[in-house]
Amino acid sequence: MSRTDPVEAGHGLGPLARRVRRSLNGDHPGEVGTMLPPLVDHHVHLQLSRADDAVAGGIAAVVDLGADPGAIATIARTEGLPRVRYAGAFLTAPGGYPSDRPWRPDGSVRELPSVDGGATDEQARELAHHALAGPVEAAVDEQRAFGASVVKVALNSVAGTVFDRPTLDAVVAAARARGLPVAAHAEGAGMAQLAIDAGVDVLVHAPFTERLDDALIARAAAAGQAWISTLAIHVRDDAAVAETAIENVRRFHAAGGRVLYGTDLGNGDLVPGVNPDEVAALVRAGLAASDVIAALADPWPDASPAWTDAGVATFVPGPPPDADRLTDPDTVAAWLAAARILPAEELEPC
Ligand SMILES: [Zn+2]
Repeated sequence: MSRTDPVEAGHGLGPLARRVRRSLNGDHPGEVGTMLPPLVDHHVHLQLSRADDAVAGGIAAVVDLGADPGAIATIARTEGLPRVRYAGAFLTAPGGYPSDRPWRPDGSVRELPSVDGGATDEQARELAHHALAGPVEAAVDEQRAFGASVVKVALNSVAGTVFDRPTLDAVVAAARARGLPVAAHAEGAGMAQLAIDAGVDVLVHAPFTERLDDALIARAAAAGQAWISTLAIHVRDDAAVAETAIENVRRFHAAGGRVLYGTDLGNGDLVPGVNPDEVAALVRAGLAASDVIAALADPWPDASPAWTDAGVATFVPGPPPDADRLTDPDTVAAWLAAARILPAEELEPC
């Protein structure tokens, strides 16, 4: 078998998996298993969680989606693991989520006034491209100056006011003009549709408030929108909400939508590292084991995986599940949750 062969043709783990054994001069000499690329949790809050625990559980890289921009820039500059990309502050409407939440880190929220001073939508959209969008552009510039790779907006109509469409359009336009994608927390009736209509690049939680209709899901997938899963928090908190989110992911994935693994680490009690509840829920949503691996290894928000590469590889010990067990949620979850990070040179193809 050559270095570039997948684990086994037709095995079902996809092109990112390699059969390997550990070298004879390290721990567990000769142990056989599967090598995967560095794995990414695409939704974390490092100011609210312990990154070391995630790394110990097989996560090599994280995307922080809401923090004090200066604090997260300092954390991200730290040597070693995890590698970090980040959004900086939450951008929200005046009084909007999460400005009044006790958990929000100091300095992590920017409340932006409406760009629409009673103008028509068309006039407001025109204004959004010009000087009156000042506070929006300043907020986006601030995150970029702190090194943000993505702009995070909160659209939570359950917990406060929400950007009107012209202001959301202004945020999207300002981010695009600076080469940054926009990621939205969409919660409350119609909020996922608002984000999809406005061309938001990523939903930071798979939609969980309501069942989206097929046409809207097809539109999101066709537009290239990505959804970060965060299903384990719902499995933990509310079975009915979890079913709604899983059903939306099932149809989004079937429509060709890009699913990114993410847990919202820092949101209450969650198993750090590769989370078995998150993996099991993704399998229940119809993702094959190879799709789950792709969702974990996706380099978003960068186009290239270079930022995740710290000379490490992911090692999942033992034989992978048999091909006919790769659609069983608990089997795939137990296998992937055993993932650990090892120096890449300690693994040899076999
Ligand atoms: Zn979050």
